[in-house]
Amino acid sequence: MDHFPIYLALQGRRVIVAGGGETALAKLRLLTKTSARITVFAAVPDAALIALAHAGKITLQHRAFGPGDALCAALLYAANDDAAEDRRVARLARADGALVNIVDNLEDSQFITPAIVDRDPVTIAIGTEGAAPVLARAIKADLEERLSPSLGVAARVGKAFRKLAEALPMGRKRRDFWQDYYFATAPQVLEQEGEAGLLPALDALLARHLSSAPAPGRVDLVGAGPGDPELLTLRARKLLDRADVVIHDRLVPQAILELARREALIIDAGKEGFGPAMAQTDICALMVEHAARGAHVVRLKGGDPAVFGRLDEEIEALSAAGLDWSVVPGITAASAAAAGIGQSLTKRDRNSALRLVTGHDMQGFAEQDWRSLARPGAVAAIYMGKRGARFIQGRLMMHGADPQTPVTAVENASRPEARVVATTLSRLPQALADAACHGPVILLYGLAPRAAEAALPHLSEEFA
Ligand code: SAH
Repeated sequence: MDHFPIYLALQGRRVIVAGGGETALAKLRLLTKTSARITVFAAVPDAALIALAHAGKITLQHRAFGPGDALCAALLYAANDDAAEDRRVARLARADGALVNIVDNLEDSQFITPAIVDRDPVTIAIGTEGAAPVLARAIKADLEERLSPSLGVAARVGKAFRKLAEALPMGRKRRDFWQDYYFATAPQVLEQEGEAGLLPALDALLARHLSSAPAPGRVDLVGAGPGDPELLTLRARKLLDRADVVIHDRLVPQAILELARREALIIDAGKEGFGPAMAQTDICALMVEHAARGAHVVRLKGGDPAVFGRLDEEIEALSAAGLDWSVVPGITAASAAAAGIGQSLTKRDRNSALRLVTGHDMQGFAEQDWRSLARPGAVAAIYMGKRGARFIQGRLMMHGADPQTPVTAVENASRPEARVVATTLSRLPQALADAACHGPVILLYGLAPRAAEAALPHLSEEFA
């Protein structure tokens, strides 16, 4: 990020615009919405500028910008449509201590003006650091459409009511009140009664919230999917948006955690692979403790919580504590990996059953029904199979599996850093060692990437 977005306090501050034509006017259309004191320097001002001056919106100086004219100014816009004149103005203004923007000249500007969606006091600034103005415009158009024009009115009235709302205890209760106001009461009242109805509605809403019992805490056991935030369910997103506490495992990437409510307490209960982990009993105790205090807890688990996620232990702990819970499914690693290699997990005349197996369990390397897995056409998604690859290979070969059976290892399925290692059972341990994977790896036993399928059974290791 070369440009950090901030909101500048402009009340009573000086803002200077140098230039008298259309470019200057375009900037003034934005600037006159602020409470800044605006001075425009223009030797030959446009008629519209003169009108703005008459209306008291700006102070107009009928001359070119000169030394000392930007003293004590917060911002200066060089908007002369003349590169040499803009350079001269910028140099002088910088000497006066103002932050300088040369219109349409990103390089020589000290700040840039974003695309703005204005629902004052709610304003949204969109910037692309000059990379894609088209994109900024499209995002702006999208937001303009989505945000009701009356949102600003609701926010202005709501802001004036904040002191009174402090009668509600901070945290969940107060948040629920505002949630109700902005997403239910305000839109409805504005449509039916207009702005005048807002204050009485706020009074009534506050009375209702003051007398209502606090909502009890709860825990939602939510699947975070394989890592790509776009593969989250809508419900997962909604719950993350409301959570007081998020307890996640190490498979959940930062990009997903960033979707959680900003004030949410985020707890890393990392228990991926063989790394240091929080004990399962501690995780259960943590969930119970927060929910019992009334918090809305999201227990965020990589993939699907019901697949090798120790879901039952957590549900039992919650039930034992008398807490409400729900399970929100997610896309499991096997689905993401199969999608990544363009393969189907089941296929007529190849495999009518799919096994999800784990490479190791609490006791060590996990035993499976090797005999049926060793049959031609069998397909299994092997979770946590990286370390046990040699063991798995040995067991399957011992039970008669064809050494040429395709195996595809998918690391970081669905993520930008995803890798595919296509190999065969006979070469599996070596292929994994050569690939030196650091991320989570799932083995698709019996499946080759679609493109490589034709080359079987002489498939060699491939890195995609
Ligand atoms: N509940 C999870 C599985 C947890 S067990 C799910 O449904 O996906 C952890 C194992 O899942 C990892 O060792 C790895 O084998 C697999 N895994 C999870 N996410 C993965 C990903 N993005 N890419 C590859 N494997 C993944």
